[in-house]
Amino acid sequence: MSKYWNPLVQKLEPYTPGEQPKDQRYVKLNTNECPYPPAPEVFEAITEELDESLRLYPDPNGDILKQAVEDFYGLPSKYVFVSNSSDDVLAHVFHALFQSDKPVLFPDISYSFYPVYANLYQLKTEQIPLREDFSLVLEDYHKPNGGIIFPNPNAPTGLAVTTAQIESLVKVNTESVVVVDEAYVDFGAETVVPLLTQYPNLLVVQTLSKSRSLAGLRVGFAMGHPDLIEALERVKNSFNSYPLGRMELAGAAAALKDRTHFKANCAKIMSTREQVTKNLQRLGFTVLPSSANFVFAAPAQGNAEELYLALKQRGVLVRFFKKPRLERFLRITIGTDRDMAILLDHLFELVG
Ligand SMILES: *Cc1c(COP(=O)(O)O)cnc(C)c1O
Repeated sequence: MSKYWNPLVQKLEPYTPGEQPKDQRYVKLNTNECPYPPAPEVFEAITEELDESLRLYPDPNGDILKQAVEDFYGLPSKYVFVSNSSDDVLAHVFHALFQSDKPVLFPDISYSFYPVYANLYQLKTEQIPLREDFSLVLEDYHKPNGGIIFPNPNAPTGLAVTTAQIESLVKVNTESVVVVDEAYVDFGAETVVPLLTQYPNLLVVQTLSKSRSLAGLRVGFAMGHPDLIEALERVKNSFNSYPLGRMELAGAAAALKDRTHFKANCAKIMSTREQVTKNLQRLGFTVLPSSANFVFAAPAQGNAEELYLALKQRGVLVRFFKKPRLERFLRITIGTDRDMAILLDHLFELVG
């Protein structure tokens, strides 16, 4: 704290990302990265950018990436906004599309960046409790609001809602924007992209960090009605006109063009997830049914925090949230089969 800080900064409570420790090599199952590399074409596309053209600014519109999204989803590129990570896109969404006269609604258990953005942009919020079984019931959002946002599947629970449930909400919630954060949608949930041409109040946000193996490249995008996209462009161009560099644009476009590696990686992660779920259940864990690349699991006895610390000491990192309702659980990213075998061996010794 310093007298040179402005009053808003004095009140900020920044987001805390999962640890990226450098003290030793961990089996890293704490930040939902993909355990498999992207397609070779992604490396080639990035390498091709490494020439003297780096002295020039990149395309401020990111057209090659918008085109790749158009080709993947069959959605015209004027429905697409691209930026440097979906966190960045989400910040622009809070800034450009949410209203401050009524509360922005999101689940009480959800991505913990949402309250941080709301605070940064001085928006009122109302956190709607998930039901006892952690389900997200969208009828609970039928009330006046300045915007609605939730991840599908939700994080850290991994539970998904259906397109029909989202469409019912979008039909009644016509006075503000409904934002679906589809960071994990490729691991078994249903995207609502096909609804976008019918509903001008629906926005979908996606990232290349999880299912497309590119957390290190920092690329995300939003899809929605061109009027919503224009608002995001206006904020972006009032902030940073070139959020994506040449290598990011080329690598991300190549990743969206590759369907083979992407599909195989997602399928592999989903099958590992089902195997891990069974094995955790055998060890007495309660495991929520996940449609994401992680499982949310509570040990039968003992304390999740102690288990998190014991695993860390043994070189396995998982995520623990010290919050009401969450502190019984560990969020475990699905890694390779070998990563998961190491985790399960340690868990067997600790609780088996
Ligand atoms: C990981 C994650 C993001 C952020 O993804 P980046 O593109 O890496 O910033 C956004 N929303 C949710 C729900 C996530 O879990």
